[in-house]
Amino acid sequence: MRWEELSSPDVAALDRERTVLMLPLGSVEQHGKHMPLGTDTMLAHAVALAAAARAGDAAVLPPPWFGFSAHHMRFPGSITLRAETLTAVAEDIVGSLVQHGFRRILIVNGHGGNAGVIDVLASTLGHRFYGAARIAVLTYFQLARQAIAELRRSKPGGMGHACEFETAMVQHLRPDLVKIENAEAAYPDPGSAYLTTDLLGASAIRIYHDFADLSPSGTLGDPSLASPEAGAAFFEAVADALAIFIDDFRSWRIPEPRA
Ligand SMILES: [Zn+2]
Repeated sequence: MRWEELSSPDVAALDRERTVLMLPLGSVEQHGKHMPLGTDTMLAHAVALAAAARAGDAAVLPPPWFGFSAHHMRFPGSITLRAETLTAVAEDIVGSLVQHGFRRILIVNGHGGNAGVIDVLASTLGHRFYGAARIAVLTYFQLARQAIAELRRSKPGGMGHACEFETAMVQHLRPDLVKIENAEAAYPDPGSAYLTTDLLGASAIRIYHDFADLSPSGTLGDPSLASPEAGAAFFEAVADALAIFIDDFRSWRIPEPRA
């Protein structure tokens, strides 16, 4: 179900306890020389829609296009919200849903740069709506990290940004938007063994990376290893992982409101 295509009576008829509402978040920012600016939002939206169809009793909100992309602003076309703006937009949307009585709301993020903001949202919205709704946040490719790790061809560093993973996903969903002949691989050295540029890399350290310092092309990783077939396999894996999570999430206990 696409929220923007429902009528008000359609929404009135939805089961408040069971229905999982998903708000996709992404970004409008440079994705190398070969991929569209809207990649992250398009992918998060498409994954959420596919997972909703698989899980049933789930609806997907229209995503606000923009995210936190300050680290991409040296590349033409990138648009950034301030972290406070993105937080406020998500708070107002989720607050509206809770006001309509919905009890299970999931923010489905598709952009690594939003990670700090969605962590804050999980804490602040979870506290604000304690007893009324459960609010969970996730980054969809992290949810499916094991399946993606098994499917990937690139070595560590090959999946970071406009990389094997993202390029394959867009080749699968919107092949008309990928100019693969313009793609450039980059395995930048982030400067310390404590740091990683890989999408699935785990680092205990959080630090600001300005993308223009890491990669003149804007790419982190190896888009040459992408293919539409790989994209179809990645997409299946992430949509499945999200559908399985939705099913689990709808059974989570909602505590009684605070006295
Ligand atoms: Zn991206």
